[in-house]
Amino acid sequence: MQFQSTRDSKNNYALSQVVLTGLAPDGGLFVPKKIPALSSQTIKKFSQKSINQIALAVLKSYFSSKISLSRLKQICESTFNFPVPLEPVESNLYCLELFHGPTLAFKDFGARFMARITKELAKNQEITILAATSGDTGSAVAHGFFQIPGVRVYLLYPQGKVSQIQEKQLTTLGSNIHALEVQGDFDDCQRLVKQAFLDKDLNRKISLVSANSINFVRLIGQAVYYFYSFSRLKPKAEQSIVYSVPSGNFGNLTAAIIAKKMGLPIAKLVASINRNQTFLNFLQTGQYRAQPSKSTLSNAMDVGNPSNFERIWYLYQRNLKKLKNDLACFSINDHRTKKAIIKLFKQQKYLVDPHTAVAYQGLKDFQKQYSKPMLGVFLATAHPGKFQDIIQPLINKPVPIPQRLEQCLKKPKKSHLISNQLPALKSFLYQL
Ligand SMILES: *Cc1c(COP(=O)(O)O)cnc(C)c1O
Repeated sequence: MQFQSTRDSKNNYALSQVVLTGLAPDGGLFVPKKIPALSSQTIKKFSQKSINQIALAVLKSYFSSKISLSRLKQICESTFNFPVPLEPVESNLYCLELFHGPTLAFKDFGARFMARITKELAKNQEITILAATSGDTGSAVAHGFFQIPGVRVYLLYPQGKVSQIQEKQLTTLGSNIHALEVQGDFDDCQRLVKQAFLDKDLNRKISLVSANSINFVRLIGQAVYYFYSFSRLKPKAEQSIVYSVPSGNFGNLTAAIIAKKMGLPIAKLVASINRNQTFLNFLQTGQYRAQPSKSTLSNAMDVGNPSNFERIWYLYQRNLKKLKNDLACFSINDHRTKKAIIKLFKQQKYLVDPHTAVAYQGLKDFQKQYSKPMLGVFLATAHPGKFQDIIQPLINKPVPIPQRLEQCLKKPKKSHLISNQLPALKSFLYQL
């Protein structure tokens, strides 16, 4: 498969460049030149297949030029090896629980798949993964690459600015995972990573690979759970199927768009967002204006300049009408997010985290204005136990913490304190 940049259709890029660099040289995002389609026959048969078999069918055309089918099969089997339940919540409304992976967040899907593909294409070359993190991305990436031979991972996180649970998840793995506690804020971490990638001396000595969310491979691994969950639904003939995706950088939603363009008959996609409304404003005005991000309860979605916007706009040929035909967007404030958590718990005995609550409420808002019969799915992106400090006071009950999380809370933190200047990071990387 050939890839191109969202900013230029003339230059072609091969899979290994897409995987091992992350960003196109012109600063655009990588996209396939042509999105491969699956026939409706093939998609129908998914109802009898396992998630691994579906993953192989969905992903093979992207990777077959470089990775053999039997090897890709192994990669799929070791990536998609935890449960992905589709829970009935209300009539005609399901929740797709994507938080049963090692870090209890949906980012495990993309990070685990990316880690295995990256290792496969890097062959025996030693690689160094560098990632700035303000929370969940870092631990998902770390777990993805944990104990993979030939790979070292450096996670840069801002000192005192991540939650205790998140810090423990970042700093207790050990082995090939190194947590760097930066004396600064998240922007300093991100700047340091960018500077490291631009530093000639450093890149001559070390093969650096970026693990941020614009990486195409991270995203395409997520298309799998749309095909899988769709195949488990049993809609009545007249029902349209609608997915609601809680969105921040819009990687998850882009994966849904690609699944739809590959032939999955999703009638509508709902982008559910918090008060960070850049995308909603764009749909309403046709003008894209990045905003400074605002803090909300669904903090992993506090993004004022969604990094995948450029990819989505490209996928719809920069045509607002086509985009609005497939996509609706609803913004849910913190007050309504809390109300949704309480309502789902009281009425359905179903506990959701704030991100998932935004997806639920976005779907309900969409349903009110949709005239056709529908079957809706909202995506649960994090385990409620990760957000017990928010949820507990709302429901007046202890929120159970999964054993996996509890175990990591007991382990001692191991991190290296560094200043927020590039020489500090460089000398640290050279020592090892
Ligand atoms: C990252 C994240 C999101 C947002 O996903 P995008 O792909 O960036 O839109 C939503 N919920 C949780 C819990 C996350 O960690």
